[in-house]
Amino acid sequence: MENHRVVSYACWVQGEEREGKRRYPLVNPSTGKVFAQVSIADRQLVDSALTGAREALKEWRRVPAPQRSALLHDLAALIRQDRNALASLLSEEAGKPLKAALDEVLNTAFLMDYFAEENLRLTGQIPLLGYPREQVLIVREPVGVVVAITPFNYPLSTLAVKMAPALAVGCTLVAKPDEHTPLSTLKVAQMAVRAGLPPGVFNVLTGPGPETGRFLVEHPIPRLITFTGSTEVGKEIQAAGARWVRKAILELGGHCPAIVCHDASWRELLPQLVSQSMKNCGQYCYRISRIYVERKIYDEFLTAFVERVAALRIGPATDPFVELGPLNNADILTKVRQQVDTAVKEGARIQVGGSSPPVAGGGFYFSPTVLTGVTSEMSITKEEVFGPVVIVTPFEEFSEAIREANATPYGLAAYLFSKDLAKVLEGMERLEVGSVWVNRIHQAYPQAPFGGMKESGLGREKSRYGMEEFTELKTVYLSY
Ligand code: NAD
Repeated sequence: MENHRVVSYACWVQGEEREGKRRYPLVNPSTGKVFAQVSIADRQLVDSALTGAREALKEWRRVPAPQRSALLHDLAALIRQDRNALASLLSEEAGKPLKAALDEVLNTAFLMDYFAEENLRLTGQIPLLGYPREQVLIVREPVGVVVAITPFNYPLSTLAVKMAPALAVGCTLVAKPDEHTPLSTLKVAQMAVRAGLPPGVFNVLTGPGPETGRFLVEHPIPRLITFTGSTEVGKEIQAAGARWVRKAILELGGHCPAIVCHDASWRELLPQLVSQSMKNCGQYCYRISRIYVERKIYDEFLTAFVERVAALRIGPATDPFVELGPLNNADILTKVRQQVDTAVKEGARIQVGGSSPPVAGGGFYFSPTVLTGVTSEMSITKEEVFGPVVIVTPFEEFSEAIREANATPYGLAAYLFSKDLAKVLEGMERLEVGSVWVNRIHQAYPQAPFGGMKESGLGREKSRYGMEEFTELKTVYLSY
């Protein structure tokens, strides 16, 4: 008989564990089996966490900035120290191969350090107006109690880009991780206490989005909701905030195009293109999901791309040799399957993949898939595909490629490959997105702002701009 150890987890409020009235089972995506029970924060617990965060704000905002930064550096050090334990928890709940989970943990520590440093450079202004015996001071204040709602695909790095700047500038925070991946966030909360963060400054409430998430969003205390997730839920959060005239930072869905012109070094770029399409099993907001290839090189490109995709190794997150783990949960698997089936009914052709591979031990697996014969009228180009599916389409004229690239409601990121400077500059100008990668795909650095246009979001994360989102300006007119 199999003996599964099912551990129970409580919420983390004002520096201690707190239980809601009910729990839900947490499933390991690699096996499809329950491995933990997690508390559901009810309305009362949500109220208690937010009230506590409002109390804690009174002291925390008065802690000198260098001390707040020092605490974040201490937290980063603890995350690095416990990186293996944190990575294995993240791998188990998210279905990420261990190496990818470890990369995310280390990036989380790096982001904590980055925002601790950036905090020391935050300034106000005194305009040099020159009027006698008058000055105008423009000062910054922390926005207040912040709610951070995060998704399952990158539970820790999406937390870090919210938590670190919020705490650094003097806000207090209530985090609500996705219901499928709450454990790594709870572990960070325990580490935050070890790092010396006062009770009530960082709280974690677990539970389903339509329940715990909605209670948070409908509450009057938060002055900012910072959210990463689907466009659909982002719109609900924005609508709910109108009641309190409350700010929201929304990092939402994407359907990101890559344009490959005939003069690009496309053979050298293939590994990057495959990785940026399929990483994290396609559960990646700015992954490449549509590739437009100039007709002259289309056949050759497609053959080489499909060959590489077919060679990707997929399996349980615990297998050190796999490149792709499972999808995170049964709902995502069903949705991706339906999207591919509908595309095929509408006329798309499957070049590789298109079904679940035989992987021993159950779990939510979907083979890396390449589709052709897709037009911008088909539903698969209109809604985000959060799985390992990429569409490859030929184009004749560059302007046609740009038009097709822009033909979705999303505007998160785009990728452009050409050695022709005129095309590069035209692409930079005409692509309706928050970030464009040109001729190489490198990491999105914390020094650069990240966010979406159109229905991909509002506001920016990372960098000085992302940090300033957690502050409000106050103007003081001084006479003496
Ligand atoms: P989702 O919107 O269903 O869930 C995200 C979070 O919102 C979860 O914590 C969930 O519990 C919560 N939630 C759900 N319903 C809610 C409600 N009514 N009120 C309050 N909270 C609620 O998103 P998902 O499909 O699980 O996550 C993937 C999405 O996230 C994709 O669309 C992806 O593109 C997006 N994403 C965007 C970025 C970015 O930076 N733009 C980064 C990562 C992921």
